[in-house]
Amino acid sequence: MVSAAGVTKSFHGNQVLKGVDVEVHAGEVVVVIGPSGSGKTTFVRTLNHLEPADGGSIEVNGQLIGNKRGQNGRVVALSDRELSVQRRGVGMVFQRFNLFPHKTVLENITLAPVQLGLMKADEATEFGRSLLRKVGMSVHANKYPHQLSGGQQQRVAIARALAMKPGVMLFDEPTSALDPELVSEVLAVIAELAQEGMTMVIVTHEMKLARDVADWVVFMEDGNVVKQGPPETIFGPDAEPRIRRFVQSVS
Ligand code: ATP
Repeated sequence: MVSAAGVTKSFHGNQVLKGVDVEVHAGEVVVVIGPSGSGKTTFVRTLNHLEPADGGSIEVNGQLIGNKRGQNGRVVALSDRELSVQRRGVGMVFQRFNLFPHKTVLENITLAPVQLGLMKADEATEFGRSLLRKVGMSVHANKYPHQLSGGQQQRVAIARALAMKPGVMLFDEPTSALDPELVSEVLAVIAELAQEGMTMVIVTHEMKLARDVADWVVFMEDGNVVKQGPPETIFGPDAEPRIRRFVQSVS
């Protein structure tokens, strides 16, 4: 479903991804953990070309991300229009919720599918309401973002990403901007999506999320994947000391 092979990325000569290989199968939840600055956010952003990778290849659903094979099999960059079509299949939820402040909760959710011509207004509204039920936000449909808590805004942001019916959802530290008491309501929504079989890549410092919902955990350090495996291996009694130290430091 998602296949990243040898992904590299530098900023101003500083290589922050040094050849990252990660495979995500359909219906799987992959959680990316690791120390601050190890490249987790950069990596997840390369998966939908928000950060174009310098090298390696990324495929989602069998499609090269950001590129296509032109004549003679040569790889050429997608146009902005092609890229925007491609991104519809990859939902993204950020640390900061980035809701449209002057739109209601329901309008935030229906805007993109209607503007892009994917759904008629009434169909988008009906689907939007079903997504609000899913994230437990139905009663807030007509409120504006500033009237909501951070946890509620993040749940709306998740519903907004789901409104595009993506095949894959990417989460970049979805709970790290939240007050501690609001984290669990967002984690519960993510856990429910996992239960439903949504394919997800989640960057997080929440070890509970990694333990509870991950099928596969990727541990990054200094731009490399130093270890990946099922949560039992990564967090189990035989875990590598460096990983154990890291887990203790963030728990
Ligand atoms: P954290 O857990 O603190 O969010 P991270 O593992 O997600 O960290 P990244 O945010 O991917 O790490 O950052 C990796 C390195 O790349 C850091 O040294 C960071 O300063 C650098 N970096 C990230 N984005 C940019 C950018 N747009 N321009 C320059 N340097 C960047």
